[in-house]
Formats: sequence, C-alpha cells, structure tokens
Amino acid sequence: MHAMVMNKIGGPLLWTELADRHPGPGQIRVKIGACGVCRTDLHVLDGQLPEQPLSIIPGHEIIGRIDATGEGVDDLRVGERVGIPWLGHTCGTCPYCIDHRENLCDAPLFTGYTRDGGFATQVVADARFAFPLGERGEDIALAPLLCAGLIGWRSLVMAGDGQRVGLYGFGAAAHIIAQVASWQGRLIYAFTRPGDLAAQNFARGLGAVWAGGSNEVPPEPLDAAIIYATVGEVVPLALKAVRKGGIVVCAGIHMSDIPGFPYALLWEERRLVSVANLTRQDGLDFLALAPKIGIVTHTTSYPLQKANEALADLRAGRFEGAAVLVP
Ligand SMILES: [Zn+2]
Ligand SMILES: [Zn+2]
Repeated sequence: MHAMVMNKIGGPLLWTELADRHPGPGQIRVKIGACGVCRTDLHVLDGQLPEQPLSIIPGHEIIGRIDATGEGVDDLRVGERVGIPWLGHTCGTCPYCIDHRENLCDAPLFTGYTRDGGFATQVVADARFAFPLGERGEDIALAPLLCAGLIGWRSLVMAGDGQRVGLYGFGAAAHIIAQVASWQGRLIYAFTRPGDLAAQNFARGLGAVWAGGSNEVPPEPLDAAIIYATVGEVVPLALKAVRKGGIVVCAGIHMSDIPGFPYALLWEERRLVSVANLTRQDGLDFLALAPKIGIVTHTTSYPLQKANEALADLRAGRFEGAAVLVP
C-alpha cells in the first residue's frame, strides 16, 4: 500500500510505500476510492490536538470497498462500499458509551488522528464503525458527507428547530448543512470572512437568504447560529446575532481563544454549546436522509500524492466546498 504519512508536526506529509495491512478480529480492510480533506486534518498537521501520535496517516472522510474481512465480521461483505468516519472506535463500557453518548467516550480512537486514516490506498477499520453506503453516488461526491456532513448534521440537530439559522464559516460543512436546512424549510444566513464575496455568492447559490461578513449584523435576529469557523472572535458576534433564548453551537474541534465579552450578550437565556465528534446513530440518521434531500457536494479533487497541496489550498481558502483526495 501507499500513503501520505505525517512523520512530524507541521509536515509535510510524505508519499510512502508500506506493507499491506491485514484486518484483525472485528476489522475490515478497505480499498480507498476517495478521502475528503477536513479542517481537522489541518489541526492534526499543526499539532493543535492533544497527544498527537506519530507517525500517522491523516484522513477521516473515507469512501472505499471492503477487500478483506477479519474474523467475526458477519454483517459486511467483501466488495461492499462503505464510509469510514472520524469516530473509529469506542470502548463500549465507559459511562458515556453506556449513556448513548459514545461521541464523548473516555477511550476512543479517531480515524486519521489516533489511528491511521484515509490519505492512503487502503485502510484497516473497526467494522462496527463503518457505514454501508450502497451504490448511489460517486465516491468523490460522497466523501465530504463523512465528516463535514455528519458533524454538520449533529450541530444542526443541536441548534434546535428554529427557523432562522446563521452559519459562520461557509466551507465544507456549511455548504452541506445549508442544503439540509433549506430542505427543512428553514432560512439560512451565511457569514464569511469579511469581504469574501466569492464565498457569499456561493452561499446565496446554495439557498442562503442573506450572506455577509462575520462582522455584520443580520437583518433579523437569528434563532440559532452554528460556528464552523475556527476563529474565537466570532463567538461574541454570533451571540450578538441570536435572539433572546437563542443558541450558539460551536462545531469545530479547535478554535482560537474566545475574547472577553459583556455578560449581556449571553444573558436572556442565550446558550453557548459545543459539538464533539459524532455517534454512529448520527451517521445512520444523516446518511439515510442525504439521498432524500439530494445533497449536491461541491468538490475539488486532487491526486493522493498532492495531499500537501490540497491542505495548503484549504488553509488559504482557495476553493469553495470541499477538497477530496483520489488514490
Ligand atoms: Zn467509552
Ligand atoms: Zn473532519
């Protein structure tokens, strides 16, 4: 197998030939067809997540076909197409797992962070955390659903069922969730980097009723705001944009420090919460819904060996939608 391996914090990822992996008990081996590039991959690369193991193969939006199964895998077959998400393993016995909050497991493994991921030609995964995908849709188009879509979905559910929803940071997750929320009959307000007219036009094209800079005040108070941007300064701005009793959901895994702000922005029962990871139920719910909505993902594909370029372009905001690596 080949992979783009991260040997040191800051990279670059190196194209490396490795021995083929063999699935252990309960595991599957997947021949990868496409793997999305997520903002979290930049946090992994930059060493912004705790206790980053090295060497590691990043990538957690994996689409591929099973080409080998380990002992005890009965419900998945060789040849079947599956998606492998960020949540790669949970302990099943900690208080969070028992309480159906496996996204908060005390002893988890995360694909492309603490276990090898999908910037590769093959990956070994825990069969219990693979989602069967069926045959509808191209690998490249489906890849962004596996994290941008799933975490986006969890954040939208967390935001409640208010009509007016603000999305701060209009990248891979927001471009999917705007379509979901519009399909649900909600109104989307898109907030981008100030002056990023291309992203604002992109958002309007996906049904946003209003688009502007994150420093702007929306024309109506919002019922909820979801923050996909990684800039802490946005948090008080989002609190300011929501009505009394409104909610602000921080959907990212890492954010720069949140500046101090007047208590008045939080008062009147506004809530500020975060979303961490996903549960398998989130995946089942969202992946069942996605074909009904007819989500169209906007992707820019790169050959696997160009992973460093894809990451640099993501960092610089050089494309709309999502980047996808193809082996
Ligand atoms: Zn657990
Ligand atoms: Zn991700």
